[in-house]
Amino acid sequence: MINNAVKHAYVGAIYETPPSRESPIQKIKWKGREFIFDIDIDEYDLVRTCGCEGYGYCKECWSLVQDAAIFIDETMREDFGFKEVIWIFSGRRGVHGWVMDKITQDFDQAQRVAILNYLTFIHDEKRTQSLEEIPDEAKPLRNRIYSLVAKSFLEKSTPKQLKELGISLNKAESIIQNVQSSDNFDHHQYNIIIPNDTLVRRKLSSELVLRRYPRIDRKVTMDTRRVSRIPYSVHGSTGQIAIVINDLKKFYPDSAPTIWESLM
Ligand SMILES: [Zn+2]
Repeated sequence: MINNAVKHAYVGAIYETPPSRESPIQKIKWKGREFIFDIDIDEYDLVRTCGCEGYGYCKECWSLVQDAAIFIDETMREDFGFKEVIWIFSGRRGVHGWVMDKITQDFDQAQRVAILNYLTFIHDEKRTQSLEEIPDEAKPLRNRIYSLVAKSFLEKSTPKQLKELGISLNKAESIIQNVQSSDNFDHHQYNIIIPNDTLVRRKLSSELVLRRYPRIDRKVTMDTRRVSRIPYSVHGSTGQIAIVINDLKKFYPDSAPTIWESLM
């Protein structure tokens, strides 16, 4: 890599022997790979309300990526007990979550899919399940949807947006204020402040899942042979460095240094 400058650098799974022309990667024995999540802002194109499209991003829609990463991070640590989860800037408009716990290296595709299914059963390409229908086995996930997804949705809403779901303007204002000033928002508080009207509740819960629930690129997590950008390598199109993110809540892509800035 030093002798021949590369535009993009990726790392993939560990194999028993190096690949060659005679034994291509598909034919050699697979030994392990980190467990990785990919969140990209363009996955949200259908539900972004800020006006950004494709590669574009702003503080408003970047918060979708931050929310998703925080949600997945908490789920990995609290529901699965993983300890080493790091987040890496993708170099353009997304983040990669690497679960580094040794045990995940050996996970086969079925195991990866099982975790992914737990994480996405309320929202994937095919279905949007209502919050009320989440079974008790997934209680931690349900609680997290209230404390992170519902909180974020409500505190960023305008009274007018909530009115469209059937909540009066006055009530909407007090809901938003309530959520904004709450440090430990949860299911219980949600039940108190949201009007006890089945139709309103159903509309609200499907709207918040649709707009703010994490959208994960499933293939990246499932495919054990896929490659991922090497942490601290340079993104060949933006020149930005895929740095490790110390604080998901504070990180914004513009703050990642470019290779030119780093060489100055
Ligand atoms: Zn935007």
